[in-house]
Amino acid sequence: MKSALVLGGGGFIGSHMVKKLKMEGFWIRAADVKSPEFGATAADDFIVADLRDPAQCRAAFDRPFDEIYQFAADMGGAGYIFTGEHDADVMHNSATINLNALTACVASGNRRIFYASSACIYPQSNQLDPNAPIMRESTAYPANPDSEYGWEKLFSERLYLAYSRNYGIEARIARYHNIFGPEGIWNGGKEKAPAALCRKVAEARDGGSIEIWGDGEQTRSFLYIDECLEGTQRLMRSDFQGPVNIGSDEMVSLNTLAAMIIAISGKTLRVDHISGPLGVRGRNSDNVLVREKLGWAPSQPLRTGIEKNYHWIVDQVALSASK
Ligand code: NAD
Repeated sequence: MKSALVLGGGGFIGSHMVKKLKMEGFWIRAADVKSPEFGATAADDFIVADLRDPAQCRAAFDRPFDEIYQFAADMGGAGYIFTGEHDADVMHNSATINLNALTACVASGNRRIFYASSACIYPQSNQLDPNAPIMRESTAYPANPDSEYGWEKLFSERLYLAYSRNYGIEARIARYHNIFGPEGIWNGGKEKAPAALCRKVAEARDGGSIEIWGDGEQTRSFLYIDECLEGTQRLMRSDFQGPVNIGSDEMVSLNTLAAMIIAISGKTLRVDHISGPLGVRGRNSDNVLVREKLGWAPSQPLRTGIEKNYHWIVDQVALSASK
């Protein structure tokens, strides 16, 4: 039986990956400071561990694994990353986790490890034009990410590559672009744009309004969770190290995304633009390299995933109102 270790296995992407690996017949250990928020874990062995602690991290690596996925990070949406209030924690916590994970990986004799980096590593200057952001993997340098979250991701990419050169680690590095879907954080300040907009629309009364941060003309692309898992596993099981974008290249403005969600809801809603933390002006995944190296591209249009996400969030809103 194949085995996998999923660090951050209590989080959004990690808990979905655990379920997918389970369906594929793996024995799975997951490690996280918290259990999955929306239901029991599918892991065979779920360890509650603070991976900033070297001993707790080492304990998770006590055997050989066929696949190791590193998703644990201190992260959130624009309301968490761009206010500046969490910069020190984001950098310290995530960097410490990655340092510990690589040390434990080497010490345990494990070799291959997937690392979840981010589109946030790309230079700000490449993301000024909302209609033509430049996000080819090779344009990451000279580096100038727009957040400390992005700087930590870039540092850790380099850390994984350095361990590959010096300690025989087989790193597999993806730069995720806005992953969304059911069982993602949808309220409380750490949620990202698709979940936040779905929640606002779900909560609004017909004929009312929702608020969008900024003028709504900032562009992004969003990738549905199932597509992300498929791309991630293709990378993990390939000979290609990366870093490589895993995202959608269906770029939309936030106004277009809001209009899509409103149409799905069947409500008539006004959109009010208010000030708020924004991030870069334009971002879209460049999928030339990932298509060439992994033969992967998203298989469904954005709307298909947004429909599923909207209906899941409608249920969450109803559930929390009934508590
Ligand atoms: P998430 O916040 O749901 O999952 C991260 C998990 O890490 C959480 O369950 C959290 O409890 C855990 N964690 C944090 N600190 C820990 C610690 N000290 N010890 C043990 N566990 C700890 O986020 P996600 O959306 O599932 O993202 C997974 C990974 O993908 C992260 O590294 C993130 O930076 C990266 N990523 C995600 C996106 C996205 O759109 N979701 C985009 C780019 C990159």
